[in-house]
Amino acid sequence: MKVYNTLTRRKDEFQPIREGKVGIYVCGPTVYDYIHIGNARPMIVFDTLRRYLEYRGYEVNYVSNFTDVDDKIIRRANEEGVDSKVISERYIEECKKDMEGLNVRPATVHPKATEEIPDMIEMIKTLIEKGHAYEVNGTVYFRTRSFSEYGKLSKKNIDDLRSGNRELLVSGEEEKEDPLDFVLWKPKKEGEPFWESPWGEGRPGWHLECSVMSKKYIGDIIDIHAGGEDLIFPHHENEIAQSEAANDKEFARYWMHNGFLKINNEKMSKSLGNFFTVREISEKYDLQVIRFFMLSAHYRSPLNFSADLVEASKNGLERIRNAASRLLEISEKNGDSPLTSEEEAALKVLEEYKERFNQAMDDDLNTADAISVIFELVKSANTNVTEQSSGAFAKNYYECLETLNQVLGIEITVKEELLDSDIEALIEERQAARKNKDFARADEIRNLLQEKGILLEDTREGVRWKRA
Ligand code: AMP
Ligand code: ZN
Repeated sequence: MKVYNTLTRRKDEFQPIREGKVGIYVCGPTVYDYIHIGNARPMIVFDTLRRYLEYRGYEVNYVSNFTDVDDKIIRRANEEGVDSKVISERYIEECKKDMEGLNVRPATVHPKATEEIPDMIEMIKTLIEKGHAYEVNGTVYFRTRSFSEYGKLSKKNIDDLRSGNRELLVSGEEEKEDPLDFVLWKPKKEGEPFWESPWGEGRPGWHLECSVMSKKYIGDIIDIHAGGEDLIFPHHENEIAQSEAANDKEFARYWMHNGFLKINNEKMSKSLGNFFTVREISEKYDLQVIRFFMLSAHYRSPLNFSADLVEASKNGLERIRNAASRLLEISEKNGDSPLTSEEEAALKVLEEYKERFNQAMDDDLNTADAISVIFELVKSANTNVTEQSSGAFAKNYYECLETLNQVLGIEITVKEELLDSDIEALIEERQAARKNKDFARADEIRNLLQEKGILLEDTREGVRWKRA
């Protein structure tokens, strides 16, 4: 497989450090609100990378953090008059629900910044000992110029950066040796969460958490480090500086960055009124359609989100699903009939589709081309599999279609949804069971509804329900 590596600015052949194993670190969201539709792009793209590598036989250790201490979280907590943990835990849970809707599998580990403070302190100590960091008045700064390769990822020249950053000196950080130095540890302010450290009570800088968590959960060297392209500078540049200065080893072998999602060709922003959370979008569209839409473009290209384009994806996905349900029907109806010799010969074409799908994915995760191959497969199924075909023939086609879609995380068989009237009947049955002290049956019904994504809330006015 070839992947475009931001570090080398070319497509490099992917070679894992350890045979058959891949360690991937993806910078996750800051949890102060529902995730927005732009945040969903790296989640979907790199979840697909993970699925594809697993499909090709690799064992993948996929680590993605939650930034759960940050100015925005603290501001929100102060607005609501609650502890910042209340905010971060709430939005981690909400983020996980959105991920589930988007069919983004949970990471192998989802570390949280606030749970890794001791290791962060250790890394800062190492950096100070090695002369890469210094403390002034309770703040610890990374001495950027001490890392000679600074700028290698973003291809920025340190002297150009310096002249462009003079104004940083007047932002209340006059104590820095150099305007380019960035914060590793900052002292607490009134009303902020804090931790004890050798430099006083305070909290870590944002860049540090990824260096520390990737080391802890993957190792000093990670195979693939990924995130949105806005993170290249300064976040990823700073991660490299911290990790390579602390560990004296190369930090990440391949750097993959997704392009940005725009809304109607404009940057998404609250002030423009074109800002959408995944949750809002889920009220209008099946999130599977959103996933399919995101994968219809190459991950490095900018992607424009508009009602028309999503509608086109909806139709495309429907075409695939219709073909799938027709194949299933024929395979069930003609289940017992074995393959004819012509059919056996005709099935060779499925191997070709799989091969071409792999070629597309091997070319820097070209999901757009991979989806084109799926459409060709659908066309072939629609012409070659007929009502007279054997059950086995239809089943082979179905399985091929299902396998390729699974790699993309696209569900082609639609889950049966409960109708409102079914839900209400079940709730009534549950109330009756509770009245009769048949709690086993009551719990059974609650669980059944939960599996179908129906959440129950017992209120004084009776039971209320909603779809998750
Ligand atoms: P944040 O919570 O802002 O740190 O973002 C979490 C992830 O979402 C990062 O990988 C960002 O690069 C990515 N991201 C944020 N906005 C967009 C967008 N509009 N399009 C694509 N990716 C985005
Ligand atoms: Zn990061």
